[in-house]
Amino acid sequence: MTNRAFIDSASLARFLDAARAIVGEDRVFAEAEDAAAYADQMAFDTARHAPSGAVAAQDTEEIGALLQAAARTGVPLWPISRGKNFGYGGSAPVQAGAVVLDLSRMKRILEINEELGYCVVEPGVGFYDLYDELARRGHPLWMSMPGNAWGSVAGNALERGVGPQPYGDHAAQICGLEVVLPDGEVVRTGAGAMAGNPAWNVTRNSYGPGWDQLFCQSNFGVVTKLGLWLMPAPEATMSLALQLPEADDIERGIAMFAPLRLNGIIDHDAAWVSYVGIASYVGPRSMFWNGEGLLPESVGADIRRQLGIGWWNAEVNLYGPEEVIAAKARIVSQAAHNAGIAGGDWATWRQGDDIMASKRGIPATRDMMMIDWLGGRGGHLGFSPIMPSDPQLAAEQFRRTRARYEEFGVDYYGAFGVGGRQTVAVNEILYNRDDPDQQRRVHALFEALIADTHAAGFGEYRTHISYMDAVAQTFDFNGGALARLNERLKDALDPAGVLAPGKQGIWPARYRDAP
Ligand SMILES: Cc1cc2nc3c(=O)[nH]c(=O)nc-3n(C[C@H](O)[C@H](O)[C@H](O)COP(=O)(O)OP(=O)(O)OC[C@H]3O[C@@H](n4cnc5c(N)ncnc54)[C@H](O)[C@@H]3O)c2cc1C
Repeated sequence: MTNRAFIDSASLARFLDAARAIVGEDRVFAEAEDAAAYADQMAFDTARHAPSGAVAAQDTEEIGALLQAAARTGVPLWPISRGKNFGYGGSAPVQAGAVVLDLSRMKRILEINEELGYCVVEPGVGFYDLYDELARRGHPLWMSMPGNAWGSVAGNALERGVGPQPYGDHAAQICGLEVVLPDGEVVRTGAGAMAGNPAWNVTRNSYGPGWDQLFCQSNFGVVTKLGLWLMPAPEATMSLALQLPEADDIERGIAMFAPLRLNGIIDHDAAWVSYVGIASYVGPRSMFWNGEGLLPESVGADIRRQLGIGWWNAEVNLYGPEEVIAAKARIVSQAAHNAGIAGGDWATWRQGDDIMASKRGIPATRDMMMIDWLGGRGGHLGFSPIMPSDPQLAAEQFRRTRARYEEFGVDYYGAFGVGGRQTVAVNEILYNRDDPDQQRRVHALFEALIADTHAAGFGEYRTHISYMDAVAQTFDFNGGALARLNERLKDALDPAGVLAPGKQGIWPARYRDAP
């Protein structure tokens, strides 16, 4: 449905004039260079999602006034917290011509409650900012961290981001939001709906419907404050690296982790990562092999030997009082032994040891190295279906996905993050943006993966802005009843249809009804 409603230059000029009156000249960015800075830096076809520019808001009043100006002029706004949603669209909107609503200047950490284990942040607070503040306080609370920590705590949680630590399901840690609705009204969710209620960020079981999750991966409001639960620092951690030598071993790898996760022995989503992923953090493919086309299996075997890694590689980390995790470690070791899975020795970290070895979330951008795998201006797309933690289903998903990668000439790089009940298959599709043939193949691969996975009965949990409609359409129970419910809600909250049209495939009426 993208681009169906035309954004004309006169309306845009009227909106930008109004925006200048609200935030001042210096926070309206409407030159071509500005628009380019907010484009998807990893896109093949930047024009398809090119924003008109950006406006940076600093408080709820400005956001409300900007939304009202958008409604008057019909110019859509696309909110970003820090706009580092790489692999899913960066800071670019679904709808070309939309103006990015940049919240990165709203950077206050409003509260860190060390006793009750939560923080309240504004949207622009980055993972580095929160980490630095927690470090300044002596790390009383630990946070979970995405692989690329350049982004924001709020934007990542609202997008249902994940990290490999406990509390790694970031949206699940949200407790209490402040939101500006499309008409400019400011609401607080949960217990925060009662002025001054100190339980706002400690309970989700407040009175009436729960709204926190309705603002995740949706276009129903602009979040301006976000409460997030953080983990009390444990007494100690223990860590074990495990390897599986062959591709088909993934089934027993998942069979080993799933019950340990379900029973609470392991309390983070331990992930099996394929060797191309590990190699891509070491250097570009040309460091290992200078050929064209798919990485040959013999070169893959050389890479694994050279780096001392398996086809699949995982790290199990345990957090808690030392005598508790020592007992858990024995259970994990026994499970690995029973499954015939090789690993090294447990490493123990205790309070007072070097924090870098602690296995808490420490912000880094090393994972960005993976986009250089094929040279040129690199990019990646994430294809991330979610399925039950059933080893056989996961193995079938792996074989199907790998076969598609090979059919389209793309090196397979996948990871299976094993939760107790669900497993997330994160497939990274790496490419060189400057190679048109690769672009064509990667696009065809992505479409094939959506169709295959849907045929197998699963859906993605998150996707790139170019595929939001396609993925939304796979959620097809009762003729797409959930999509219709989303549309009804969208039309009620945003009758002018100006807040992030098309996000997650949710289009307001004026786009759906456009000829
Ligand atoms: C190499 C690499 C590794 C990565 N590893 C991970 C990983 O391990 N885990 C992970 O989760 N991600 C990962 N990512 C993806 C991405 O970098 C992060 O998720 C990042 O945190 C998202 O950027 P952000 O926090 O600035 O969010 P933004 O880009 O600001 O926001 C994401 C989306 O949420 C919505 N949104 C943002 N703020 C608001 C708001 N205030 N109100 C309403 N809606 C809002 C917008 O639609 C926006 O498009 C990785 C990316 C790369 C390139």
